[in-house]
Amino acid sequence: VIEPAGDLLRERSLRRTRRRLRMIEVLRAARRPLTARELREQLGERNVDLATVYRTLERFVAASLASRVQLGDGTARYEMAGRSHHHHLVCTKCGAVESLATCQVGPLEDLALREHGFRVARHSLEFFGTCQGCNPKRP
Ligand SMILES: [Zn+2]
Ligand SMILES: [Zn+2]
Repeated sequence: VIEPAGDLLRERSLRRTRRRLRMIEVLRAARRPLTARELREQLGERNVDLATVYRTLERFVAASLASRVQLGDGTARYEMAGRSHHHHLVCTKCGAVESLATCQVGPLEDLALREHGFRVARHSLEFFGTCQGCNPKRP
């Protein structure tokens, strides 16, 4: 069941505006994390200040409505929060981003504890390479 975007805002005491509802729609429909600029393009509104989009996204993050994703190029990207923990596959040729369904990093966290006494609180791991469409076709 998909919760109405208006409810998501109300539950977090965020002001409900048409643009915010639209931003949630765009984030939900996105198949990969979006930059503020990409999101603005998809809003289909003219003259939306990029700084405003960015601020709203950060407000969404602060309210745990969205998550910020760093994919190694220094540009923040955003996706809806509430998805289970996952990792991204980033194509360095065409920029496509896919999500890996499961995380198998647990054993490495165990290793960190066992060999270093280090308690891992969280991790971030992204993969860079070429996607299926960009891979050379095998003859
Ligand atoms: Zn690609
Ligand atoms: Zn993980």
